[in-house]
This record gives sequence, C-alpha cells and structure tokens, in this order.
Amino acid sequence: LLKLDSLKKIWEPVAQTLEPDKKLPVGKRPRVVVIGTGFGGLNVVHGLAEQEVEVIVIDRNNYHGFWPLLYQVATAELVPDAIAFPAREVIHKYKNLKFYMDEVTGIDLEKKQVQVTEGEPVSYDYLILAAGSANNYFGNKDLPKHTYSLKDIDQAVELRQGLLSAFERAVLEPDEKQRAKLLTFVIVGAGPTGVELAGAMAELIRPIIHKDYPTLNENQVRIVLVEAHSSALDQFPPKLQQHAQKRLQKMGVEIRQNSKVAKVENGLITFDGGATMEAATVVWAAGVRASELAENLGIKLAHSGRVPVQPTLNLKEHPEVFVVGDMAYLEGYKGHEAYPMVAQVAIQQGRQAAQNVLAQVRQQPLQPFHYFDKGTMATLGRNDAVVDAFGVQLNGLIGWFIWLVVHIYFLLGIRNRVLVMLAWAYNYLTYRQGVRLIGRQHPEPRAEAVNQ
Ligand SMILES: Cc1cc2nc3c(=O)[nH]c(=O)nc-3n(C[C@H](O)[C@H](O)[C@H](O)COP(=O)(O)OP(=O)(O)OC[C@H]3O[C@@H](n4cnc5c(N)ncnc54)[C@H](O)[C@@H]3O)c2cc1C
Repeated sequence: LLKLDSLKKIWEPVAQTLEPDKKLPVGKRPRVVVIGTGFGGLNVVHGLAEQEVEVIVIDRNNYHGFWPLLYQVATAELVPDAIAFPAREVIHKYKNLKFYMDEVTGIDLEKKQVQVTEGEPVSYDYLILAAGSANNYFGNKDLPKHTYSLKDIDQAVELRQGLLSAFERAVLEPDEKQRAKLLTFVIVGAGPTGVELAGAMAELIRPIIHKDYPTLNENQVRIVLVEAHSSALDQFPPKLQQHAQKRLQKMGVEIRQNSKVAKVENGLITFDGGATMEAATVVWAAGVRASELAENLGIKLAHSGRVPVQPTLNLKEHPEVFVVGDMAYLEGYKGHEAYPMVAQVAIQQGRQAAQNVLAQVRQQPLQPFHYFDKGTMATLGRNDAVVDAFGVQLNGLIGWFIWLVVHIYFLLGIRNRVLVMLAWAYNYLTYRQGVRLIGRQHPEPRAEAVNQ
C-alpha cells in the first residue's frame, strides 16, 4: 500500500505534464482571481473555462459593457441594456468559474490577497488584473465635479438626462443669455470618443429642436468640440482627419483646435491663455489613465498610471500576477510605442494571459504577447465613418457599413444584437432617437450654475 502511494505521488505530476488538459481534483486546483469582466477579463475567462484551475471573477458591475457604443446610450439612440451583457450568463456555463459582484479596493501582492468592499478578502495563486481605465483629469480635482464623463453606463445615462434636461430648462428660461448657455454643449477632447459623441449629439439635437421644441431658436444651439492639438482624430492618417473635420463641421459641430482647457467651473470654461466660454453641458473626453487599482500595487507605474508588464504580460517581481488591457503598459506597438488602450489589445492580451497562466500551472514556458492589428475606425453620424485598417483608408458609406458590421459582430449576445439593429433601423428611417426619457430621479446638471 505504501509503495502504491509513493508511486502515485511520483506519477501524478508526470502525468500532468504529459497530458496538460487532465484535470486536477477540485480541491487541489490552483485559484485564479480575475478582476474585471470587460474586454480583457472576459477573454481571460473564456481561456480558463473548463481548465484545471478554479476561477473567481470579480467585477463591481454584474455586466460586461460594450463601451464602443456607449456614446449612443448618452445620445438617446440605444437603451442601456442593449450594450450590457450579464456576466453570470457567461460564468454559469462552466463549473470551474464563480462570479462575485464586488468592488476591489486593494491588492496585497505579498499575501496574495484581494480586498473587496462587501465580502471577505479573496486569496489567489494567480491574479489577472483587467480593471480597465478611468478618466484622466491631469490632477485637476474640480473637473469631475463640473463635467460629465463617459466611462460606464451610469455616466452615459446621466449625460443623456443632462442633455435632454437642458432643452426642457431652456424652454422655461426667460433670459436669452442663460438660454444660450443651456443650449451650448461642449465636448473636450477630439479623439474617437469625442468625435463620435459630437456627431451623435448633432444627430440627436438638430431634428428634435424643430419638432419637439418649436419655441427654441435652432441658431442658439451650439455643439463645440474642443481639442488641445491641431486636429481631431490625430491618431488617424491626415486624409481621414481632414475628412472627419469637414464632415463634423457640415453637421454643425464647431471645432476649436489648439485650445487647452485649464478650468471648468459652473458652466464657465477657461482656456489656457485666459479666453472663456459658457456652456451648461461640458463633457470630458480628453484623456484616459489606468484604473486607480494600479496605484494600489505599490510598484512604479508607467505613462498614464499603467502597470509595466513583461512581454509575457506578468510582473517581473510577481510572475503570478498578470495585467491586461487598458491597465497594462507594454512597449512594442509599431516598433516602440506602448500598446494602445483599445478593445482589440485587451481581447488579445486576455487570451494570451489565460494561456500563460495555464502554462505556469503546467510548468511550461510562457509565450510573449503578439498583437494582430485589425485597425481603427470612428463613425461620423449616418452614412459616414473613417476606417484605417490593413493599410487601407476608407471613409463615407463603405466605411460606415464596415463600422456597422464590425460593431454588431463584436457585441455579445443575440438579444443585444437584435436590440441594437432594431434601434439603428428605427433611427435611420425616422431621423429620431427613441430613448428620450428623463428619469424623475435625474441628477441636477453638472454645470448647475445656469441661474447663478
Ligand atoms: C466611451 C468609450 C468608447 C470607446 N470606443 C472604442 C472603440 O470604438 N474601439 C476600441 O477599440 N476601443 C474603444 N474604447 C476603449 C475600449 O473600450 C477599452 O480599451 C477596453 O474596454 C479595455 O478593456 P479592459 O478589459 O482593459 O477594460 P474594460 O473593458 O473597461 O473593463 C474593466 C472592467 O473592470 C471593472 N472594474 C474596474 N474597476 C474595478 C474595481 N475596482 N473592482 C471591480 N471591478 C472593477 C469594470 O466594471 C469593467 O467591467 C472605448 C472606451 C470608451 C470608454
């Protein structure tokens, strides 16, 4: 009996190496904790499903958010749940996965523990950080109080309420100057999010002002896109930048280039150099940084507060900790730059991190991250989008069609795809955005100084 037992002890690890997919008994499986069910986290989860690890996935929300269409929730085009997919719908399919809806507040790298708000601390053998990004206010503590932002569904709904409320308030406002302020909408940051939001705002506002608010003067409505650099969409080739600018201007969007915002307070925007402008609605889309969880790790962070990782996506000092997506800082994109904070990077890093965790469990060599660049795109309202992919630059109807197909393809869930396609068809045919309700509990507009 003794001999058999010692033979088993020798054989088990050998068998594990020879047959990597062979499952360990449940109690002996290493535990992997994944923080975030975004693009990165969800792909980690798919890679670890039904493997010889116990996986605990933690997210403060109970859904996966499809952020590329978030601006359409803010502009009343889509209902929020069309771009949110329940996390448990993915998790419940696999026995080795568990989901906790909780906010992670800290990470103890030495004790290998994750602290959360509601539950007990969660221990791990391997940790995958995929908590995404937050707005970058460049140290200005007042900006979040006086501007809207667009990083999750709650914020998108808050912005939608703010936009629609501005019109209702303008109808009741007797003072011409205050009404003009209510009807001025400023977006700071002309990257893809700012550009798509500006185009969608123009499409929301222009048609409804005629039909729903006949007492308001259309000429008082201003949508202003503010950019610190010389051009909108400066990560796109110059030809597409020019196309985007012309198209937005045609839609009635004013583009204010080379204008750096220094301060926003109660609807008064102050630019570097002292110029000012009044707007009741100011949206901050001017920068992103890694989730604040990165600051918790106690290690030296890279540009935008991102966590420097090795090509194998783990930390040098703690190889059991992997970081993917917006939180990770890894150079090598186009030769030297860091990989950008975009969905495809997060998706592909998530897959690689899952493979590397399994490789560590199986005592096999880890593989470096290789990126397959599928290009970038941004829509410019109906019938137009700019696409820069595989060396080809497109715009206009064909670009827009590609944009539509790609977004439907990457959305999770049949129900969400159907909801989005129906909403797009309705908006396209009627020129009206269907989700124009203002909740009773809506927060006061951010620039609550219209009457001060
Ligand atoms: C408005 C907007 C538009 C965008 N448009 C595009 C686009 O068109 N194309 C493109 O490629 N990219 C786009 N992006 C960027 C893209 O969405 C991100 O690069 C991608 O989501 C990064 O994936 P991630 O897994 O790192 O983070 P995310 O997908 O953001 O997921 C992070 C997850 O972590 C959770 N989380 C965060 N902090 C905690 C915590 N403390 N505790 C528990 N859970 C936490 C969040 O709830 C979230 O579910 C856009 C982003 C935004 C905000």
